[in-house]
Amino acid sequence: MPVANAVTRLWLLGHGIEHSPSPAMHNAALRATNLSPSFSYQNHDVTPEQLAGALLALRSGEVHGANVTIPHKRAAAAACDVLEGDALVMGAVNTLFMRDGQLVGENTDARGLEAALRHEGLWPAPGAAVVVLGAGGAAAAAALALSRSRPRSVAVAARRREAAAAVRQAVSSLGQENFPAGTTDWTVAAVKAALGAAGASVLVNATPAGLPDLPVDVAALPDGCTVIDLRYRPRPVDLVAAARQRGLPAGDGLEMLLQQGMLSLRMWTGVEPPLDVARRALHEAVGA
Ligand code: NDP
Repeated sequence: MPVANAVTRLWLLGHGIEHSPSPAMHNAALRATNLSPSFSYQNHDVTPEQLAGALLALRSGEVHGANVTIPHKRAAAAACDVLEGDALVMGAVNTLFMRDGQLVGENTDARGLEAALRHEGLWPAPGAAVVVLGAGGAAAAAALALSRSRPRSVAVAARRREAAAAVRQAVSSLGQENFPAGTTDWTVAAVKAALGAAGASVLVNATPAGLPDLPVDVAALPDGCTVIDLRYRPRPVDLVAAARQRGLPAGDGLEMLLQQGMLSLRMWTGVEPPLDVARRALHEAVGA
């Protein structure tokens, strides 16, 4: 017998997530869908040692689904019974749910970034020279997403060369062959060379660092270079503001956050999320 006022629970599993705007965005979208019983999305902060216990709540049905963020994306993938979609390529999950008694892990970051760039008119035409800064989960998602735009090249630059090489290796193992020799060097000169002189180029910051720590001289970027920063704080995001000031097309990570989250929400509920409602709530939550 259904329980009156029952609430289906969703979690954001991460550590140090108290300032995440995800609950505001998800709960606004969930309220607008009028699902019954209603859903509630909450931060659930766990240390690496507590992650296994949190996953038991999904397995028992106490919690219906979860997003996963820093630092648990790889550990949660390893704990899944099944990995699907981009999670198979990336070995990292941002979305969890149960199906037929199995814990399923997906990753909506790359598709979310693609949807965001298309929404903002920043999705590159084929033939772009792409440089991704960073070699963590977000960098892997960016490299995977942009390799689907049929670029001329995708180069990864990071402080640790072996981490950069691992990102390139993971994405090229998918059969995305356009990963020619690019830079794995974290220097202004290497990044500039990998972007090339032509305007068909894209620079993605997939690190938590901003200016002036990044190996980027905005004044020296090629004319027409598209600048994308996956950060959404501070507002405005410094690299994006500097690129726009120079007249370059640029966007930050807020729309990606929306799109990856709504792809997850569709997986948990089976309904089409109201993007505009969620976008409004998200912008309000971060003061955009
Ligand atoms: P990870 O911790 O997995 O990776 C971070 C990467 O950035 C590593 O390669 C790390 O290098 C590098 N890095 C960290 N600090 C610095 C620094 N000061 N200078 C240079 N490199 C640095 O994090 P994620 O990949 O998950 O996240 C990266 C960024 O992307 C974050 O700002 C996050 O908020 C954002 N993000 C945005 C999303 C969105 O939806 N908009 C989704 C996911 C992430 P090293 O290994 O040498 O430390």
